[in-house]
Amino acid sequence: MGTETIARIVSAYELTISCEKCGAQSQQTIGWIRLHRDMKCPGCDGVIVLNTSRMTGTIRSVERRLGDLQTQLTERIRKL
Ligand SMILES: [Zn+2]
Repeated sequence: MGTETIARIVSAYELTISCEKCGAQSQQTIGWIRLHRDMKCPGCDGVIVLNTSRMTGTIRSVERRLGDLQTQLTERIRKL
């Protein structure tokens, strides 16, 4: 399992985006979120800003968690 695979898993990972105005939730993949600065809310048609520091933080923590998982798996495989 290489870093390329992890990157692909990260970009296919779905995050729940909730609208601050009406609370409507929608699922978008990290890959999609990275390509968009904002999106239209499916509930109220309002603009949901995607490139917020909170969103960036969430994406980073997903990357970190999956990266850690990869390290653990690699170490485990090496011990077998
Ligand atoms: Zn809304």
